[in-house]
Amino acid sequence: MHTKSLTELAADLASGAVSSTELTQAYLDRIAALDSQYNSFITTTPEIALAQAKAADEARAAGQAGTYTGLPIAHKDLFCTEGVRTSCGSKMLDNFESPYDATVVAKFKAAGAVMLGKTNMDEFAMGSSNESSFYGASRNPWDTNRVPGGSSGGSAAAVAARLTPAATGSDTGGSIRQPAALCGITGIKPTYGRVSRYGMVAYASSLDQGGPMAQSAEDCALMLNVMAGFDKMDSTSSQRDVEDYSAKLNDSISGLRIGVPKEYMSDDLDPLIAERVQAGIKELEKLGATVKEISLPRTRMSIPAYYIIAPAEASSNLSRFDGVRYGHRCENPKDLMDLYTRTRKEGFGAEVKRRIMVGTYALCAGYYDAYYNKAQQIRRLIQQDFLAAFNEVDLILGPTTPHPAFKIGEKNNDPVSMYMEDIFTLSLNLAGLPGMSVPCGTVEGLPVGMQLIGNYFDEARLLNVAHQFQQVTDWHKQTPAGI
Ligand code: GLN
Repeated sequence: MHTKSLTELAADLASGAVSSTELTQAYLDRIAALDSQYNSFITTTPEIALAQAKAADEARAAGQAGTYTGLPIAHKDLFCTEGVRTSCGSKMLDNFESPYDATVVAKFKAAGAVMLGKTNMDEFAMGSSNESSFYGASRNPWDTNRVPGGSSGGSAAAVAARLTPAATGSDTGGSIRQPAALCGITGIKPTYGRVSRYGMVAYASSLDQGGPMAQSAEDCALMLNVMAGFDKMDSTSSQRDVEDYSAKLNDSISGLRIGVPKEYMSDDLDPLIAERVQAGIKELEKLGATVKEISLPRTRMSIPAYYIIAPAEASSNLSRFDGVRYGHRCENPKDLMDLYTRTRKEGFGAEVKRRIMVGTYALCAGYYDAYYNKAQQIRRLIQQDFLAAFNEVDLILGPTTPHPAFKIGEKNNDPVSMYMEDIFTLSLNLAGLPGMSVPCGTVEGLPVGMQLIGNYFDEARLLNVAHQFQQVTDWHKQTPAGI
């Protein structure tokens, strides 16, 4: 049962082949038996899950079931969950229980979903490897000596190990797409503003966006149908109508114009990944797409621009963790300054402190123009490069990451080499565009992802192209040995 996709499980629930209670128990049993190998969950919520499953079965018996009723889900541990710890991977929030649900969590609840638990992540979503989690690194099910990627590494590992059919993630600079690529699953970061950020612990508010992580594009569409939509509680949420993301999955992609940025197929890229992506492009050509080379000249500038803007916003967002309102508080502070200083010294890990220092520095009166303003100018140029490209093509395609999953510990002492792993993902967040990672092969037994980039609010097209690709390939169906 655990190898089935979300779509297949929805059909099994609808036909009565399985009940939500049976399904939920099967996943809870798998988590209990196997997650010590992957450390993909920070918290499991079996009582809540079984109560929600029972309610889902009752709703179905009463003829009130929707598509999502009774389907299990795991939430990245930065989505606030009423009455259940929301740690954000940090000691600072180890004891934090939110008094309310994030909009995304509330929407899944309202749709009848069953919450299995909260997944591991880099502390405050800062990282590309999950190693900055206070709860220890999550491990890649394809090779447990390797990272699952980050920051939504726990969600990716849990889906790859089939401990849940689906999980939520968030993506500030690649945190849905990169772990999806490294774990051989499918993930989509929607357009900025498509999914509400309300109740999602903030990292960099102008870049953060929640989205689905699952086995296939078809499954991601089911999830996005639940997640997307205007929310008056998020002032940056879009009022634009939501499409039915499942409706266009089977449309032909004949005539689709795909652009491949020459800067993506560059020296930064592992040649074996380049081969897999080229093979993926060939499949799309067979389906009738036309492919041409394009240029996104400011690609390399996305790293310095992002690593000023994201820490700048983070330094401001994380100032709320001061030992007064919620989360960790140091013992016996001798005065207010001591309370702030020791609370933050004890509560935050090294990477978070590094970002707060960089961000605070970049925002200092004397340096603001030199760093923050410059980075914002580059951000605009990056957006203009994309818009120019979308005058010529319908969709942009390239690799998701320059390398497959690296070894745990390999990049720990070299933050800049870790930041370089984000080279193909960051620019979308700077521009606010939607992007998706789709499994397109393996390199030495490790999964590789192909990135599809769409114009604003073009999620339905991304999902359509990915689904068509997944009708003629089976990379998304492959699992780590023994799963
Ligand atoms: N790796 C990037 C960072 O550390 C992106 C993380 C994310 O998308 N949350 O900032």
